[in-house]
Amino acid sequence: MAYNDKTRQMYLDTLQGIRDAGLFKQERFIHSPQAADIEVEFPAGASLKKVINICANNYLGLSSHPEVIKAAHEGLDSRGYGMSSVRFICGCQDIHKELEARITEFLGTEDTVLFPSCMDANAGVFEAILTKDDVMISDRLVHASLIDGIRLASAIHDTYKHNDMEHLEQKLQLHADKRLKLVICDGVFSMDGDTAKLDEMVALCEKYNAMILVDDSHSSGFIGKTGRGTHEKYGVVGKIDVITTTFGKGLGGASGGCVSGRSELVEMCRQKARPYLFSNTMAPVIVAGVLKVMDLIMHNTERRDKLERNTDFWRKGLTEAGFVLKEGDTPIVPVMLFNAKLSQDFSRDLFDEGVYAIGFFFPVVPQGQARIRTQVSAGHEMHHLEKALDAFIKVGKKYEILGKTKQEIIERYGN
Ligand SMILES: *Cc1c(COP(=O)(O)O)cnc(C)c1O
Repeated sequence: MAYNDKTRQMYLDTLQGIRDAGLFKQERFIHSPQAADIEVEFPAGASLKKVINICANNYLGLSSHPEVIKAAHEGLDSRGYGMSSVRFICGCQDIHKELEARITEFLGTEDTVLFPSCMDANAGVFEAILTKDDVMISDRLVHASLIDGIRLASAIHDTYKHNDMEHLEQKLQLHADKRLKLVICDGVFSMDGDTAKLDEMVALCEKYNAMILVDDSHSSGFIGKTGRGTHEKYGVVGKIDVITTTFGKGLGGASGGCVSGRSELVEMCRQKARPYLFSNTMAPVIVAGVLKVMDLIMHNTERRDKLERNTDFWRKGLTEAGFVLKEGDTPIVPVMLFNAKLSQDFSRDLFDEGVYAIGFFFPVVPQGQARIRTQVSAGHEMHHLEKALDAFIKVGKKYEILGKTKQEIIERYGN
């Protein structure tokens, strides 16, 4: 069938439906490097506006760090631009192996294999290490990429209620007869900023002879005393069988990901994981950049310590101003607005005040849970956070939500 008028109209109608539902995603064009201060063209065609970015995954402020950029340049010069191959044919340089060793050392695991992204790591890992005789038991709020990886695997799938340890234990009992059991969670959950209770989970896994996989994409580099991740925060380094993570967030923000953990499981990924076998290797320029990131944070906690101080300031400031926040202690600080339209209006007004933060609503978050998800960075200086706080307070006053409870905001705006 050709792409005829009827086909075109069908897609146009579908897209209009997305617009009518208020769910159309509109990009804002950034003309500067990623940083605390960015220059943005929004709406399209408007002149550039300098704003404070408080919604990037740039947790350690390394996305445009001069030393990372310099190392990437050097990597480009010494190892070239592209490898034109997947890993196992001719896509593995010395620096790929060097980075795998550094990540293994950093995370306190046995071995590591790189992937083009963490989405790819998650897409490949389950089918590589499990069979139809096994079961995957995942938290109900895991990241979309884990859900996709689970869908691609032949093992049986079950879920437990978010962070509900009693429910997880019931599921472990229910599946006692399976050959292997794999419990799956995010270390830090990206929408709420809460953490998995890894100490309790490891204890349950030991009791019921299960393995555990943690996606630490929103943790690697800054959660835990020395930034190793949620396993460090909960005192279970060495006890997580598989960690997947990304280099696209705290660890430089470019791209790439990995599977790290028990050496046999990592080797199974090298032998069988389809994104490893069939998608291009990480570009040398990025590998060189991430190696520099590891140099900067391996034995130096300055950046994660600053991030922690910034997070404390930001959370305290918003709380004292009277906003409703999601509880937590990670740099993900959701400002709850509950109503989808209010979250969009709020975001637009913040932009007018010089602050870039996006409103999230269903289906990215549950119905009636619309919010502005703010993310603190070590790249923020106090003047950024103070100015951003002033903007939040000004817009909060305009909509008369300061000091109001969840119930009062929903009564006024609906959800
Ligand atoms: C961002 C994210 C990913 C995807 O990482 P990419 O490397 O960008 O593909 C996977 N899992 C979680 C939990 C994430 O937050």
